[in-house]
Amino acid sequence: MERTRTPVVQGWFTEADAEGGFRLLGTRCSACTAVFFPREDAHCRNPHCPGGGELAEVPLSPRGRVWSYTDGRYRPPAPYVSDPAVPWDPYTLVAVELEAEGMVVLGQGAPGVTVADLAVGMEVEVVGGVLHEDATTTWLTWQFKPVGGVA
Ligand SMILES: [Zn+2]
Repeated sequence: MERTRTPVVQGWFTEADAEGGFRLLGTRCSACTAVFFPREDAHCRNPHCPGGGELAEVPLSPRGRVWSYTDGRYRPPAPYVSDPAVPWDPYTLVAVELEAEGMVVLGQGAPGVTVADLAVGMEVEVVGGVLHEDATTTWLTWQFKPVGGVA
């Protein structure tokens, strides 16, 4: 049976924008132009906002630069949900600066991307990836990989 492809969080990304690319989705305040990710749909959180703005969905920049990175080599303790019977698979965590939005977004490295492949300032792009699969569902998330692939 085919698994259902389901975003880990609804509304945080699209698998295909107008140009067919994977994009993170934030919201932008029409009064002060501040962009929020995770998306803010209730009230603008900019303390300097003049107020009265509408929050509209916007795709975030598809590329950014590595601001920091690390890897998770050990299974986090509860409440992190993970099956102790399954060997822990280390993953890479990347903080990416999106210049246009003036923000840093955190995400996992794409499969095969290790800390040895990354450097601060390196250009990376956001791609769709699989966080987890169970019997019925493929849980989708966003990941980052170096532009042009891994050396
Ligand atoms: Zn605002």
